[in-house]
Amino acid sequence: MTTDQKTKPADQTEALPPYSGEETPCPKCRYPEAYTLYRSATQAVLDEFNGRLQRRGPLPERLERQCQRCDYAWDEALVPDGADADEAGL
Ligand SMILES: [Zn+2]
Repeated sequence: MTTDQKTKPADQTEALPPYSGEETPCPKCRYPEAYTLYRSATQAVLDEFNGRLQRRGPLPERLERQCQRCDYAWDEALVPDGADADEAGL
């Protein structure tokens, strides 16, 4: 009954995709820009979305991306120390 194990590491935290940069296409509507919000590590949370309560987590520190057009949100990993600074928007 544990058919969803294949994409998850043995660790409790979910593996996050790397930060994809300022101009990343939305996975849902392909709009090329997304907001970036820092989220601290959290234990399991209940999110209400689209009329449903869903349980997520525990989650590590992460960057939450949100499409500027359709509001779809997804998580990405923090930018590691020493990574390219040109994506930092400074
Ligand atoms: Zn979108």
